[in-house]
Amino acid sequence: MAEQKEIFLTVDVEDGINILMRDAFGIAMEPTARVVGNVERLLALFEQRGALATFFILGEVAQFYPGLVKRIAAAGHEVGIHGFSHTLYSRMEAPAIREEIVRTRAILEDLTGREVTAHRAPAFSVGPANPWVLEVIAGAGIRVDSSIMPATAGRYGWPGFPREIIVMELPSGTTLTEVPLTVASLPGVTLPAGGGGYLRYFPLFWTEYCFRRALRNGYAMVYMHPYETDTEPYPSRYYEAAAARGTVARLKSRLVQAGKKSVIPKLAALLDHYRGVPLRQGVPSGPDVGSPRVPMASAFPGYAWQPPSPEAISFPMVSARP
Ligand SMILES: [Zn+2]
Repeated sequence: MAEQKEIFLTVDVEDGINILMRDAFGIAMEPTARVVGNVERLLALFEQRGALATFFILGEVAQFYPGLVKRIAAAGHEVGIHGFSHTLYSRMEAPAIREEIVRTRAILEDLTGREVTAHRAPAFSVGPANPWVLEVIAGAGIRVDSSIMPATAGRYGWPGFPREIIVMELPSGTTLTEVPLTVASLPGVTLPAGGGGYLRYFPLFWTEYCFRRALRNGYAMVYMHPYETDTEPYPSRYYEAAAARGTVARLKSRLVQAGKKSVIPKLAALLDHYRGVPLRQGVPSGPDVGSPRVPMASAFPGYAWQPPSPEAISFPMVSARP
């Protein structure tokens, strides 16, 4: 049998329900225990297939379910940071973003007893409108970041960003290694390819086709959320909140389960073909990495590398999430 090619396996650990309730309906609630069962389903599959992953964990989930973080680390997976509250960085000021990262980092390091220096922004919320967030991320001690979707994808994405692992030389002089998400180009359109709804709704042969192409050019990366494997209906208060919003919200609420039954079988099939590895296995990190450096200020002239003044930041209310 030919040697298996490696793909990066990444999981954004969040409870879909509490974030959806907050972002869609403005209803605050704590993360539910369903995140635990959902992560355990993934841990079991990964163990079965001999795969290791990077789990980017939300601080609030780590705080409510510390045992879950310990189980992830004990199984040999890499632990990274996914912010604390899943508030989009595109709606936050620099000090608040830093606080989310530093606070979560302290919780995760305390639970795992290891240094935690990998990071993914909530919903890939770093782009051309807020490139300065990269300085905040690096300044909080992060060495490997995977927050950039090099495509236009709804309300996130940074079209034109390199599609390879790069060591970014930030205008302040600090460096940060970026592992952009895997995308696939068709004539006239570039689509995310490695996960989320794109794994749920699209047939497996499409993902495999994208991965074959991506691997020819370097690497391929799966990204997913534990709740995407959760086929149980959401709690009734979710459907009630949606129904109170009217027909469109009610219909949308019926779609949240779409494609979820296919996720575990698709992942299992992918992991039969490829060996899943965490980012730390194959991504250069640290200040002395020998990879070519991309001077960001000159690579992206015209971008604002300083955060705007607080008065200049507006906070549009966003109600949808991927
Ligand atoms: Zn997320």
